[in-house]
Amino acid sequence: MTNSNPGFATLAIHAGAEPDPTTGARATPIYQTTAYVFQDSDHAAALFGLKQFGNIYTRIMNPTQAVLEERVAALEGGSAALAVASGHAAQMLVFHTLMQPGDNFVAAKKLYGGSINQFGNAFSHFDWQVRWADTDAPESFAEQIDERTRAIFIESLANPGGTFVDIEAIAAIARRHNLPLIVDNTMASPYLVRPLQHGADIVVHSATKFLGGHGNSMGGVIVDGGTFDWSGSDKFPVLSKPRKEYDNVILHQAFGTIAFAIACRVLGLRDLGPAIAPMNAFLLLTGIETLPLRMQRHCDNAFKVAQWLKNHDKVAWVNYAGLPDHPNHALQQRYAPKGAGAVFTFGVKGGYEAGKGLVQGLQLFSHLANIGDTRSLVIHPASTTHAQLTPEQQVAAGAGPDVVRLSVGIEDVDDIIADLDQALARV
Ligand SMILES: *Cc1c(COP(=O)(O)O)cnc(C)c1O
Repeated sequence: MTNSNPGFATLAIHAGAEPDPTTGARATPIYQTTAYVFQDSDHAAALFGLKQFGNIYTRIMNPTQAVLEERVAALEGGSAALAVASGHAAQMLVFHTLMQPGDNFVAAKKLYGGSINQFGNAFSHFDWQVRWADTDAPESFAEQIDERTRAIFIESLANPGGTFVDIEAIAAIARRHNLPLIVDNTMASPYLVRPLQHGADIVVHSATKFLGGHGNSMGGVIVDGGTFDWSGSDKFPVLSKPRKEYDNVILHQAFGTIAFAIACRVLGLRDLGPAIAPMNAFLLLTGIETLPLRMQRHCDNAFKVAQWLKNHDKVAWVNYAGLPDHPNHALQQRYAPKGAGAVFTFGVKGGYEAGKGLVQGLQLFSHLANIGDTRSLVIHPASTTHAQLTPEQQVAAGAGPDVVRLSVGIEDVDDIIADLDQALARV
């Protein structure tokens, strides 16, 4: 690139990609192969010994995946990235690299429901303990930290409520305790928020959502900020102690600012196996090319829809941080001045039946459990994702009987509003 400091939209299209050296193909090819021929026996030995970077086997790396990794690292301002099969796989590999049995981490209470399950249920099988804290009271994170704590985990924009988090306040606590801050940036995307600039050390993504953006491929990304001193204590032995399987290399010493991404790849991904398919890496890359255009349109549409709903007499309340009277509006203006995202909740007067009925009456909106598609999406959590909870738990989770969650798409906003209008008229 001629400009040494290209802008976000330029990076979204070009970062990591070059015309294919063999064929001249301009789009990144789908390298649909499981393995790669070594140049000679010394080359093979050097690759296996981590003495030289290169392709061995697609469970560990793949050239299409590599472009996706470079692109997301560039968009987030990180030192390196690792793309994997899903957002949950990304989270699993991050914690697998940081935690030993008996260790704990502190996570925000307001998280994607799947992450609450993963941290509370699946991770307990590895004896990794999660402790919950409240992002509205950043000091509650400090109160949960002890000598076995290894990380802090938050979402920049929390799913599903659309709550913005004071990343810098929580980063200050992490720094004070010499712990890495991990930020799930799925809902905001780097177009709206770049957590590494606010003191985060690691960013994770469900690329399934806004990065890919078309509701057609699963993927996850880990971004290494390159900022954390893994050797500053003996808390992170995977990074700071010799690895027998790689000729006693100390990963942090050998790989410096990209050591975390390397560890997630050559230990976590190698041994646990959630590799991304080359086809999915290609589809996610194609989606990322239009991320800035899509994300701005998502935000502009969501703002108009939220404003319109707020003035509707069948709507009890609207929870969208882009609205000036929202309690989170100041944080949104500070961290995401371009927009408040596409996902928010609102309440329909009439409770459970009204909420369920509204979803039933919508025609342009798709009724499903996903966010971040070009299409407008809707769900009534109390009768679906949160149906197994008690009424009290539903309310605490922001999924009370009247709650409807929207992921506003990039259709013509008049059509989105017309659909809500006709469905509300019928409840
Ligand atoms: C969907 C989602 C995840 C999990 O990602 P998958 O790709 O579905 O595994 C994690 N965090 C957030 C905020 C999400 O929305």
